[in-house]
Amino acid sequence: MNILVIEDDPSVRTLVKAVLEHNGNSVETAETIHDGQALATEGNFEMIVLDLGLPDGDGYEMCKEIRDKGVTTPVLILSGEHETDVKVKCLKVGADDYLTKPFNTEELLARLEAIQRRTESSGDQTLVCGELKVDLLKREFSVNGEVVQLTNNEFNLLVYFIKNKNRIITQEELAEKVWDIHFDTQTNYINVYISYLRKKIREHTETDYIETIRKKGFTFRCE
Ligand code: CA
Repeated sequence: MNILVIEDDPSVRTLVKAVLEHNGNSVETAETIHDGQALATEGNFEMIVLDLGLPDGDGYEMCKEIRDKGVTTPVLILSGEHETDVKVKCLKVGADDYLTKPFNTEELLARLEAIQRRTESSGDQTLVCGELKVDLLKREFSVNGEVVQLTNNEFNLLVYFIKNKNRIITQEELAEKVWDIHFDTQTNYINVYISYLRKKIREHTETDYIETIRKKGFTFRCE
């Protein structure tokens, strides 16, 4: 597996990386929410091991945020917090499991394998909309079986559209949910990304999935 480990404590980070690599995984590490979130959103990871207490924020908030952005990569929280309400809070926000420190490395591996089995059998890693198919795990988009290369922004936009199909979505909503910024009417870049995405889809199909609703926003049409 390709695993992202977000942990600021160097001894834990080094140990987890070594154990996972020893067991045939490839591992990337981050020490802050800032770096970890960027990697989690852009990278091709099959698993994320996430510490809760990080120097620039709370792992719980990060987990919530990446789930809101449509990142479905399984998350195992690794934390010194033993309280049940913290564990429940993390699981409710989209974490897949929770392991308290100090932990046994055998248990860490077993839990990651269990998450992987559950993810593989759940089969909900694919979004389908007419001729369009999105593999969330591989972050791959295809139209009628043909793979279409998208940038991260275009991919995230597409995932948000498909998950919120057949309703009007405003630019404000896209700015907030996809880009995590406050919408500014002076900027046109949301329109620009939508036109890029529309163009790439239209290169492979006659159907126009993105409908512009005048003065309101957009609707992504899925039958
Ligand atoms: Ca920490």
